[in-house]
Amino acid sequence: MNDCIFCKIIAGEIPSSKVYEDDEILIFKDIAPIAKIHLLCVPKEHFAYLSEADGARAQMLGRTLTKIAGLRGRLGLSEGYRLVINQGENAGQSVHHLHIHILGGEPLPWGGQ
Ligand code: AMP
Repeated sequence: MNDCIFCKIIAGEIPSSKVYEDDEILIFKDIAPIAKIHLLCVPKEHFAYLSEADGARAQMLGRTLTKIAGLRGRLGLSEGYRLVINQGENAGQSVHHLHIHILGGEPLPWGGQ
């Protein structure tokens, strides 16, 4: 996708603070963190929404969740973490390339807490 900022980050055309990369995914620091640790995990294949993730994409996402769990110590998330996928306008999705927010590094508020 020519105009996709995350595709440009994956291609190395826009700088990012990479923390992990393999043939399927890239994990880098969010530019506007909302928690002490705020990373973004993006599939290298461009697709916009979780609702487009069936078949091979669903399998890739399953592997991705397992990878994130395996990386938790290296990423500083041993005490716990939260994964968030925003889809669409009501969720405030601003970048239309599927991404998993990885939040942690401190106790995370939930609901009315
Ligand atoms: P969302 O609102 O779920 O679409 O999340 C998009 C996220 O991308 C936001 O948390 C932004 O801070 C983050 N973001 C946008 N541009 C960049 C960038 N160039 N490098 C790192 N994170 C970015």
